[in-house]
Amino acid sequence: MNFIETRGNDGRRPASVSFSQAILDPMSSHGGLYVPESLPELGLDFLRGHLDSDYKTLARAVLDAYETDIDGATWDRALARYDGFDDPARPVPVVRVRDDLFVSELYHGPTRAFKDMALQPFGVVLSSLAQARGERYLILAATSGDTGPATLETFKDQANVKVVCLYPHGGTSDVQRLQMVTEDAANLKVIGIHGAFDDAQTALKALLSSARFQAALGERGTRLSAANSVNFGRIIFQQIYHIHSYLELVRQGAISIGDRVYLNVPSGNFGNALGGYYAMKMGLPVEKILISSNSNNVLTDWIHTGEYRLRGREVQPTSSPAMDILKSSNVERVLFDLYGPERTRELMQQLDSEGGYRLEADELARLQAIFAADFASDAEVDAAIRETWAGGYLMDPHTATCLKAHRSRRDRDLPDIVYSTAEWTKFSPTIAHALSGEQDAHDLDALRSISAATGLPIPPMISALFDRPEVQDTVIDKADIETAVLDFI
Ligand SMILES: *Cc1c(COP(=O)(O)O)cnc(C)c1O
Repeated sequence: MNFIETRGNDGRRPASVSFSQAILDPMSSHGGLYVPESLPELGLDFLRGHLDSDYKTLARAVLDAYETDIDGATWDRALARYDGFDDPARPVPVVRVRDDLFVSELYHGPTRAFKDMALQPFGVVLSSLAQARGERYLILAATSGDTGPATLETFKDQANVKVVCLYPHGGTSDVQRLQMVTEDAANLKVIGIHGAFDDAQTALKALLSSARFQAALGERGTRLSAANSVNFGRIIFQQIYHIHSYLELVRQGAISIGDRVYLNVPSGNFGNALGGYYAMKMGLPVEKILISSNSNNVLTDWIHTGEYRLRGREVQPTSSPAMDILKSSNVERVLFDLYGPERTRELMQQLDSEGGYRLEADELARLQAIFAADFASDAEVDAAIRETWAGGYLMDPHTATCLKAHRSRRDRDLPDIVYSTAEWTKFSPTIAHALSGEQDAHDLDALRSISAATGLPIPPMISALFDRPEVQDTVIDKADIETAVLDFI
C-alpha cells in the first residue's frame, strides 16, 4: 500500500510514496500530510478471528493488512516494546468503571502517558529504516510535557538517530522535566528554553524551514525527520488499541461482536481520535466518536457549527496541558477523507491566511454523522475526578474531560469507551487539588499524599526520577538554539 498527500501533488514530489518514505520524510506537497491510498477492510470476521488474540498478535494482523514495505521481523521487534509495559500480556487494560463506562488505559508504558503506545514501536521502525539505508537522522521535538519524554525514551541508544528535545524551562511539571533532564544516553540532547511552549515551538518551526540549517545538517551527514503525530508512523499504531478495546468489551461480556459502542477521546492534535476514525472505517462497529476537549474548545465548536476558528483565540493554560492546542494537526486527515484533496487544500489555506474556515451544510452533516463533541472547564474536570474517585477509580485530568461528553453526547444507550491518556502520577498536583483542595503542591509531595490517601502505589519509574542525577542542564535563549543543535550533531 502506498501513501498519498492530503493537499494534492505539486508535480515536484512523487504522487505516491512507500510507507518508509512517508515516515522518514513526513511533509508532503503544499504543506500537506501523508495518508494511506485506501484503508484495509477488516470487518466482523476479522474481529471474530481475533477474539482470543493477545495485543501483539492483533497488532501484527492490523499492520499486515496495510501491506507496507516494512518486513515482518521489524514489525515484531517494534511490537516487542509492549513487553516493557506493566503487564506484557495485557499492555492495555480496559476497566469497567460503570455499566456503560469503560476506561481503556493507554498509559502503562515507561513514561506513563499514551504517547508511549505509538512512540515505543515507532522508534524501533524508524531506527531500523535508518540503519538499513545507512542514513543518519535528527529528530527535533518541542514539548509541553508528554511528547518529549516519550520521544527520548523510545530513541535512547537507538542507532543512526539523534534527538534534540526543546522544552519551556519552568513550563512543565516536575515529573515531566525530570523525565527529560535525567536521560543520559549519548544520542539525546534536552534543551530548556527561556520562554513558553509556544516560543519553543516557534523556534523549532523556524529551524525546520531554514535552508541554511538544512544545509548545515547535510554537511554533517544528517537528515531531518519528525516524531510528532503528523507522522503516519505514529498513527498506524494508534488504530490497534481501539480495536483491542472493543474486543475487550466483548470478552468481558458487555457487548456481542457487531454491537455498536461510543469511543470517547480526550483530544489535542487529534491523532488518537483519528486512529479511532480509521478503525471505524475499517469496520469497527462504532456509533460515534466523542471528541472531548478542555476550555481550548476549538474542536467542540468545529463539530457543532462547522466553523474552525483560530482568529481571536489565545491558548488558555488548563489543568490538562497536553490538550492546550488550537491548531489540531490531524483534523486535516479527516478533511481529506471526507471532502478530498482540493477542498482540504482550500480549507487549510483559509485557516492559514484568514485564521478560520466554515464548512458547507452538507459537509457539516457528514462530519456530524461520525463525530460529536463537548468540552470541560478545569472546575468540571476537578468535579469529574472527585466523582469517579468516589466510585473507586482515579483518573488523570485529560481523561476526566471525557465525563462531560459521556453524559451529554450519547443519543443512544450504548457503552462508552473512554481513552485514558495519562496516569494520575503525571499530574499529581491537579489530582491533589481536585481531591483535597490542596493548592500548588510540588509533584513529590502530591504523589506521596495521594498515594497515602488512596492506597494507590507510585510506580517505580516515577519515584526513581527524584533520585536520578539531572545530567541535561542546558538552558538557553531562543536565539542560540541553532548553534546548540549543530554543536550536538
Ligand atoms: C498527547 C496527549 C493528548 C492528546 O492526544 P492527541 O492524539 O494529540 O489528540 C491527550 N492527553 C494526554 C495526556 C496526552 O499526552
